[in-house]
Order: sequence, then C-alpha cells, then structure tokens
Amino acid sequence: MGGILVYALHDDEGNFNNNSLGAISEAAKLAGELGTEAAALVVGEVADDAAAGLGAYGAAKVYRAKSVPEGLAQPIVDAMAKVISDEGFSYALFGGGLLGFEIGAGLTARLDAGVTMEVTAVKAEDGKLVAERPVLQDSAVVDVGYAGEPGIIIGRLNAFDVNEGGSGTAEVVDVDVEQSKWSGKARMVTRGESRGEDVNIEDAEILVGGGRGLGEKDKFKLAEDLAEALGGAVAATRAVVDAGWYPYSTQIGQTGKTVAPKLYLAAGISGAIQHKVGMQNSEAILAVNKDPNAPIFEFCDLGIVGDLHKILPKLTEAVQAKKGG
Ligand SMILES: Cc1cc2nc3c(=O)[nH]c(=O)nc-3n(C[C@H](O)[C@H](O)[C@H](O)COP(=O)(O)OP(=O)(O)OC[C@H]3O[C@@H](n4cnc5c(N)ncnc54)[C@H](O)[C@@H]3O)c2cc1C
Repeated sequence: MGGILVYALHDDEGNFNNNSLGAISEAAKLAGELGTEAAALVVGEVADDAAAGLGAYGAAKVYRAKSVPEGLAQPIVDAMAKVISDEGFSYALFGGGLLGFEIGAGLTARLDAGVTMEVTAVKAEDGKLVAERPVLQDSAVVDVGYAGEPGIIIGRLNAFDVNEGGSGTAEVVDVDVEQSKWSGKARMVTRGESRGEDVNIEDAEILVGGGRGLGEKDKFKLAEDLAEALGGAVAATRAVVDAGWYPYSTQIGQTGKTVAPKLYLAAGISGAIQHKVGMQNSEAILAVNKDPNAPIFEFCDLGIVGDLHKILPKLTEAVQAKKGG
C-alpha cells in the first residue's frame, strides 16, 4: 500500500494556502488509518524550514521540485506524476480551489487514473480510501471507491479541517522534474488573486455578501460599511464578479469559495443553487431582498423583504450605535 500525496500551494510570500494545509491534515489522518504515510509536494524556492514545517500538519515527507514554477497547472502535473510513479503513492489528495481542480484533472488524464471531484469527506474502508461526494444539487451523498491505483481525490474548497497535530518536522527531499514539452507553453505573467490580510473571506466569522441587487459597482460601499461595522469581510456572487464590480477572490459558490461563517448576510442576492452551495453551511443566514419570492428566503434563517439601499445603511447605523453605546 502506497502513501497519500498532497499538493501544497503557497503564495508569493511563501505562505501555504489553508486549503492545502487542510488536505495535508486529512491525508495524515487517513494515512494513519491505512497504516501508511502522508507526504506533500511543493514547487519553487520553498525554504527548508517552511517545507519541513508541513510536518506540523502531518506530512512525513515533503518533496520539493525547485525548478517547477508555482501557479501553473501543467508543470505541477509533471511533478506530481513523477513523484507518484517513482515513489508508488496510492492516492493524490487536493484541497480543491481552481488550481487544485486543474492539476487534479490533468494528473488524472496523465496517469489514466480514477478521479472524484467536489469531495466533502474521505474515509478508510477495508484498507482503501472511499470519497464522499454530494450529488443532485447536494440533496444526496454518494460513496466513490477506486478500482485501481492511483486514486485522485479533489476536495471541495475548505472541506478538510486544518489540524496542527503532526510530529513537527517533515523530511525534505529535493526532486528533479523533467517538464513535458507542452508544460512551458503557458507563462505566468502575474498572480492575480489577492490573499492574506486584504481578502480573508474564508476565515471571516461574519460575511456580508453583495449581489446584483446592489445595482452598481460603487454601491458595494454599502456592503463594505456594514461589514466594517460588524467586524467582518465582504463576499460576492458570480454575477457581480463577472460584471467586474468586485474581485474574483471574493466569489462564493460552486466556482468560487466555500465559506461557513457564523453570520452570512446576503444583500441583493437571489440565492441561486450555485451560490447556495458555497455558503449554505453558515451558522446563520440573513437575507435582504426586495423580492419576497427570491429563492434565498427558502433557506435563510431570517429574511427582510425590502430595498437594501434603505436597509443596509440603517443596519450599519444600528450596529455602530450599539457598539458606541
Ligand atoms: C456553471 C455555473 C457556475 C456558477 N457558479 C457560481 C458561483 O460560484 N457563485 C455564484 O454566486 N453564482 C454562480 N453562478 C451563477 C448563478 O447561477 C447566479 O446567476 C448568480 O449567483 C446570481 O447572482 P446574484 O444573486 O447576485 O444576481 P441575481 O440572480 O440577479 O439576483 C439579484 C437579486 O437582488 C434582488 N434585488 C434587486 N434589487 C434589489 C434591491 N434594491 N434591494 C434588495 N434586493 C434587490 C433581486 O430581487 C434578486 O433576487 C454559476 C452559474 C453557472 C451556470
């Protein structure tokens, strides 16, 4: 039985993405149940201590491909495929996110493997991994096993909890990766997604989600003011992100991020299924919408029917007054 290999994405400052840390933690837990090891693959000039530090999340080994650039899928597929083939890994686990999906799909094709996407949980059964995947608009969950090896498992964004319960230091192994001739055809011009302090919607306890009902780009100020008063962050629907009203990194939903804050306040959001899947696990959902028949009212905890342009400033004022008082 081979181990479980996780791809660990990092930003330009060398910080590992939470989603990847969750995938390493999950792989470590599952490897323990299978009696094997979890390992991570990092690319680029990751410092020794940063790579070894992934041991804190349960990685026994970290393979480092220094010559492979971060952020482009195909060169990382080359690196993952090499390590899996050379070291005999039985599974590759990805935390999800756009890059995880792209690398996972490429790796599946490259290794002629089986793949499950949008996985929300993984369990060990009879010495093998079984992925759980919601289907039929999340109304049912199916178990997906693997007939052969390696099995590729791509999690839904943030499906796996980060757990710093590992031994502390992973062994770092440098690997040389020969890139496929097509891998160099795309070039990274700039890494556009904001990370860290500026956009931190995945960790925010309170989110104010803005939708097309805001009416125009500048009206996002209403959502920002309310989020600031509440000590939260601003999220968005795909409709407004596509319209260029707010950054892509704040998009919640099927093709965006999955969040589970204590409070999700949906302002001018209709509640389309593709948005719902990204925020339905919020502890409390409050919706402001002028249409009493908007789908969001079918699954929110508290709904206000009315014009958000009047309601949001009043809510902001009320929160500020309460804080002041
Ligand atoms: C393959 C695929 C993937 C997708 N992925 C995503 C995804 O990841 N995330 C996502 O969000 N969407 C996604 N979508 C798009 C999704 O189907 C919806 O189109 C989108 O979520 C709608 O965004 P919205 O709620 O902002 O806009 P709308 O659906 O246009 O809703 C605007 C709402 O604002 C209300 N409103 C208008 N004016 C006011 C006012 N003055 N006061 C109060 N309320 C007002 C309206 O009543 C309406 O309910 C995807 C679609 C597809 C096909």
